[in-house]
Amino acid sequence: MIYLDYSATTPISYDVLDSYNKASKDFLGNPNSLHSLGMKSKELVNSATKQISELFGVNESEILYTSGATESNNLALIGTAFANQKRGNHIIVSKLEHPSIYGICSYLEKFGFEISYVNHTEDGLVDFEDLKEKMRSTTILVSICAVNSELGVRQPIKSIRQIIKKENPNVYFHSDMTQALGKIPINLKDVDLASFSLHKIYGPKGIGILYKNSGVKMIPIIHGSDKENLRPGTPAVPLIAAAAKAIRLGIQDLDRKETFIRKLNERIVEEVSLLQNVVINSTKYSIPHILNISLLNIRPETFIHAMEEYEIYIGTNTACSSGEISSSVMVLYNDKKRASTTIRISLSYLTTAEEITRFLNCFQIAYKKLNSLMED
Ligand code: PMP
Repeated sequence: MIYLDYSATTPISYDVLDSYNKASKDFLGNPNSLHSLGMKSKELVNSATKQISELFGVNESEILYTSGATESNNLALIGTAFANQKRGNHIIVSKLEHPSIYGICSYLEKFGFEISYVNHTEDGLVDFEDLKEKMRSTTILVSICAVNSELGVRQPIKSIRQIIKKENPNVYFHSDMTQALGKIPINLKDVDLASFSLHKIYGPKGIGILYKNSGVKMIPIIHGSDKENLRPGTPAVPLIAAAAKAIRLGIQDLDRKETFIRKLNERIVEEVSLLQNVVINSTKYSIPHILNISLLNIRPETFIHAMEEYEIYIGTNTACSSGEISSSVMVLYNDKKRASTTIRISLSYLTTAEEITRFLNCFQIAYKKLNSLMED
């Protein structure tokens, strides 16, 4: 099997799974219980949180555990929108967000919040001038994805923060960093809120993190007995222990991993660019881990299944919206054919040069067969 859909999800690392298993077996107590078993679990959670906060360079109280980035995005946007309603009702997001952000925005619109969508340059970077122009006195939050999940476009988060805070220091800046963590260096000093999903960095499925700067006013979206707690419920002890391990391992050696992945990416681009009716959608600002291309004559589902016959697994636009047209490609190129024929090849430091050789061979065979059928 050759897996090239790492941006949809990653296989859990054995070390991380070890931490998960150990915590499951040896820490049975509920961290909210007062007895010694509860205390022991609580200590494990606290020490994992301490580790994560040190790795992120933030305070322990600023780490909130969720079920994944979808929930982190919900808590970030809905939790701050309702808590800061008195200050304003305006939110700015980019046009290259994960679909979960747009779902949340439509929900907030029903409660009277107004959403503006900031424009992009032709390479997919947030248009700074447009961002400045869209800021209003009623703006409470700006949310910009650090790395777009479909095209891999990486935004200059630090510069975006400077623009927002210069216009109005009270506006919160949230970034969905789900596709950034473990791929590029991140600095949480650049944002007030950030979302993560652990299964994207060789951790378990079912756990996410929301970083929330202590100065951010927020209300919970899930309500429980503990009114002070922004995410009440029994902490997922094994998932939290595994999260700390996944982050520690995931952010090691990023430069070396990126250099290796870039070489693989360049090999693929070089070969597939020679084929007729193939266009590259990733831009010069895309990280090499995510390569988005359009096979203009072939339906993505057809191609994905053709590759599956060789036990090669690649993605369509995003796992969360398979079958639909790629909104990111549409935003960037305004071309329906291009946006409805995208495939996403996502690479990892686990990918080998041999895998790419086999992938390219099978790609050529499948592509030529399907492309010629379309031309007949
Ligand atoms: N944001 C981004 C940028 C993503 O890539 C994803 C996963 N495709 C999510 C949010 C949602 O993550 P999850 O499905 O783990 O909730």
